[in-house]
Amino acid sequence: MKQLFCDICKKEVVEPIPTRTYFHVREFDLCESCKDDLEAAVKYTVRAKKPFDFAWFDKLRIDLIHDGVRKNKISVAKKA
Ligand SMILES: [Zn+2]
Repeated sequence: MKQLFCDICKKEVVEPIPTRTYFHVREFDLCESCKDDLEAAVKYTVRAKKPFDFAWFDKLRIDLIHDGVRKNKISVAKKA
């Protein structure tokens, strides 16, 4: 079995199962906890944005991932 590492936290994903234990977003592989962080980060930002626009949403997601790759974690704005 091939070894799989999360592109954000760089940890190995043990027993990688697509959409179960890891998630593929564009060219990145995210472990479950980083995927959760990404979704939370996107959700907080999306709430403030109207009207919804998919191109913007896609760019936001990629920006958050790029930022996460640099910092080894997705930063979630906890302002709920
Ligand atoms: Zn991760």
